[in-house]
Amino acid sequence: MLDADFFRRWMTATAASVDREAARLTALDSPIGDADHGSNLQRGFTAVTATLEKEEPQAPGAVLMLAGRQLISTVGGASGPLYGTLLRRTGKALGDAAEVSEEQLTDALRTGVDAVMQLGGAAPGDKTMIDALVPAVEALGESFAAARAAAEEGALATTPLQARKGRASYLGERSIGHQDPGATSSALLIAALEEAAGE
Ligand code: ADP
Ligand code: MG
Ligand code: MG
Repeated sequence: MLDADFFRRWMTATAASVDREAARLTALDSPIGDADHGSNLQRGFTAVTATLEKEEPQAPGAVLMLAGRQLISTVGGASGPLYGTLLRRTGKALGDAAEVSEEQLTDALRTGVDAVMQLGGAAPGDKTMIDALVPAVEALGESFAAARAAAEEGALATTPLQARKGRASYLGERSIGHQDPGATSSALLIAALEEAAGE
């Protein structure tokens, strides 16, 4: 079973890998965006870890809802409301149980990803974070490691795609040949699950 500490570790591990990869995320956002994705998420997840330490939410759902709220209020740009919605809706779906199963997490994350698709209007293949998140949720039923691999593969597979949502879509065909920054950060988020599980 996964308790609030697991979800705290998930957010802390995400913050650490966003810190490590911030320059790369911003570099990916340079040719097909406005070169701020790394700094956007760095600011957001730094605020998330600070708030979690201060408020000490005691249930998995509460951890994610607080984290999501924090991302929405600190990250400007498209990714803030989208990641914020992902975590808030996933947290809401987990309810107020003190512990949840991996299967419950999978179902909740699916709800969260659906909410992101509804908010942003992106579908798989549009060259967004959805291209990493959807395959990750599908593989999560198997294991955290499988979800990580699926998310990484999904992020890499955005390179030949033409962007249909977000800033990169303004470039039309010129968005082809670049890996999507948001799909790349989503793969970090999913990889952090495996770290939180200590696998
Ligand atoms: P901004 O584009 O506002 O500067 P960021 O650079 O932080 O925001 O985030 C860009 C990422 O957000 C993109 O790489 C993409 O993955 C994701 N994104 C943008 N628009 C959408 C959308 N409508 N649906 C899903 N993801 C999106
Ligand atoms: Mg940007
Ligand atoms: Mg921006």
